Amino acid sequence: MAPRKCVICGKQIPEERIQALPQTKRCVDCAREKGSDIVTRKADIGMDADTYKDLLGATRS
Ligand SMILES: [Zn+2]
Repeated sequence: MAPRKCVICGKQIPEERIQALPQTKRCVDCAREKGSDIVTRKADIGMDADTYKDLLGATRS
């Protein structure tokens, strides 16, 4: 398997972590900073609809 790098800091994600969480895109340190991987995955897809609408409204006005 090709080494995977953290999308935040660019460090290589440990093999153990990839095996435990194949979908992860962050190293342990960055994942910990943002909370759980579930939370960070939510950030990956964007954000929830209400937050997105708020953001759109904020940039538009
Ligand atoms: Zn990282």
